[in-house]
Amino acid sequence: MYQSFIGLEIHIHLLTDTKVFCSCKAAFGSEPNTNVCPVCLGHPGVLPALNKAAFDMGALVARALNCSIPDRTWFERKQYFYPDMPKNYQISQFASPLGQQGYMDMVIRGQKKRVRIKECHLEEDAGKMIHAGSVSLIDYNRAGTALLEIVTEPDLETGAEAEAFIQQLRRLVRFLRVCDGNMEEGSLRADANVSVNLRGAGLGRKVEVKNLNSSRFVRLALDYEIERQKEVLDAGGVVKQETRLWNENRDQTESMRSKEDSHDYRFFPEPDLPVLEIDEAYRSEIQGRLMELPLDRMERFVRDYGLSLEQADYICEERALADYFEAVVQAIEALPKEEAARRVALWLAADVKRVMNRDGVGADGIGQWSFSPRRLAQIVELLGRGAISGKIAKQVLELSVSEDRDPLAIVQERGWQLIQDPELINRYVQIVCEREAGSFDEAAAAREGGNLKRFETLSAYLVGKVLAESQGRCDALLVKEHIEKKIGEAKKCAC
Ligand code: ADP
Ligand code: ZN
Ligand code: MG
Repeated sequence: MYQSFIGLEIHIHLLTDTKVFCSCKAAFGSEPNTNVCPVCLGHPGVLPALNKAAFDMGALVARALNCSIPDRTWFERKQYFYPDMPKNYQISQFASPLGQQGYMDMVIRGQKKRVRIKECHLEEDAGKMIHAGSVSLIDYNRAGTALLEIVTEPDLETGAEAEAFIQQLRRLVRFLRVCDGNMEEGSLRADANVSVNLRGAGLGRKVEVKNLNSSRFVRLALDYEIERQKEVLDAGGVVKQETRLWNENRDQTESMRSKEDSHDYRFFPEPDLPVLEIDEAYRSEIQGRLMELPLDRMERFVRDYGLSLEQADYICEERALADYFEAVVQAIEALPKEEAARRVALWLAADVKRVMNRDGVGADGIGQWSFSPRRLAQIVELLGRGAISGKIAKQVLELSVSEDRDPLAIVQERGWQLIQDPELINRYVQIVCEREAGSFDEAAAAREGGNLKRFETLSAYLVGKVLAESQGRCDALLVKEHIEKKIGEAKKCAC
């Protein structure tokens, strides 16, 4: 009987070299207070200057989220007491943010869902407080670094949906290479707004859960909060509008403060920065920098390569992995495109992934890996046209990685091509059938007596022995043919 509404405010750290309004380095992990200057330390009388790269990245995300970029956009001062932002206001955007009224399509439980984006605005981050015993220290390195805040309409309904939205937005901004998406380091942070109301009665009174630094916490906090609000309403109460925090040790949200109203910030236009006039030339420049986005790429992989949605999803998690996948498929000439693609997808999700995990190669670093697309293509081709067995293929992968050499060279040098020469195969079959005469005779008898199941078992056993004898190099199908022929002949001799 209840309905829940969730709207997210997601801050992403833009990957600019310098801060948004001064030329200090924007780096994570430097010695405290080494990347600072009078501008980002908020000294009186200094002038901010907009970093164009930050604006461009913001505009790129805005367009990727189908937002419109207004003809005129500007910055406002958001007045607030920040111990970690000494000028006591934050330069942000309020009346005409750089991205407005868009949407992002996401996939949840195999279904597409559209979430409206209210706006994207560019702003500066605050410094970082470090509480050490009885003292608090401030590191201003982060103060003034470029943040893009992405605000959704309250179109999400459950913790799981919010979690999926954040994961897919994270993938999008990583694809665009404008944010590393690292939630633990705070490069992507989410505040979640949630309300519950009687179904059909519209939005309820919202509670904001702040500073969630993992998408799992977003899910847990929201599901907890939805249940809590339902209980308040069930008991005939009203939900208090407030800001709450997720306590990860107690698995619950806890009240932090009652929410100050938006007008308390006394926004007014930043007098030291000009209004930006956006023209068509700029719009098309940004449009030109947009590439195929993850969801479109996933759909194309399903459509053009015949991958399953799960396979496409896994491969498109990282742009570098998707690029690698396509490069391998391109390099395979001996197989039809769809078959090549399916085989490559299987390798990437299983054996290649295992080696990558073991050797610490991240999906985002696969483009620099010595095991190049051409090398994987060689293995898939060798296997696909039956030149090597599956078992050998895995060994070749290992060696190609550890010796940094081409699979073709490894196979040739070690003589690992499958043996398809009938005479050679017959020789192996001969050896095994003599040594395993008992099984061989029993197989012949089983076939004679019409016990097909027993016959199949014994023949598979003999095939296995031949493969072992040849160290996996005989072509299993040919061996099977030879053995069955031999058993047939044995029967003839007996009569
Ligand atoms: P505020 O003025 O408090 O900042 P906004 O209108 O800017 O509120 O919305 C902030 C976020 O809260 C947005 O993501 C929006 O979708 C979400 N939101 C607004 N009202 C509600 C509500 N009643 N229930 C759930 N989420 C809401
Ligand atoms: Zn600075
Ligand atoms: Mg707001």
